[in-house]
Amino acid sequence: MQASPLAAQAGFTVDDRGRIVTDESLRSISHPHVYAVGDAAHIRQRYGVMHGTCQGGMPTGVHAAMSIARELDGKQPKRFRFGYFHMPVSLGRATRSSSSPAPTTARAGHTWPGGRPSGTRRR
Ligand SMILES: Cc1cc2nc3c(=O)[nH]c(=O)nc-3n(C[C@H](O)[C@H](O)[C@H](O)COP(=O)(O)OP(=O)(O)OC[C@H]3O[C@@H](n4cnc5c(N)ncnc54)[C@H](O)[C@@H]3O)c2cc1C
Repeated sequence: MQASPLAAQAGFTVDDRGRIVTDESLRSISHPHVYAVGDAAHIRQRYGVMHGTCQGGMPTGVHAAMSIARELDGKQPKRFRFGYFHMPVSLGRATRSSSSPAPTTARAGHTWPGGRPSGTRRR
């Protein structure tokens, strides 16, 4: 996946895929008054840099919106920690489905970021 060249052309610090490099609160490291989310953002988590999916786009968008609201209230933005806002369903004869509907559940460590149940054979 290659992001639009727009961010680089505008002078943002971007990675080799053209994604805006962000700090822990999803602010551009070169332009801290700008938040970057979803496919356009280079977001580092404990396990590495997030890749472009709906699973990443939704929580980063929500986090940025909440951070902007916090800043308007004179508060500091919080650190972003990835958590699912969706319910993945794995399809196929040899797999079974899984669910992780709440971001709070993900934070508590009860989800499978790599889709662990996928590929698990039915007995
Ligand atoms: C074929 C395909 C299948 C996929 N399947 C999955 C899947 O099964 N599961 C999954 O998790 N992810 C999937 N993805 C990835 C997922 O779609 C993206 O990761 C997600 O949509 C990223 O969200 P986003 O908001 O960052 O960007 P986008 O959803 O791309 O939204 C960006 C928006 O910005 C608008 N825009 C662009 N340039 C400008 C401009 N200059 N001015 C104004 N507006 C502009 C665009 O029109 C668009 O509406 C798939 C992607 C593709 C292409």
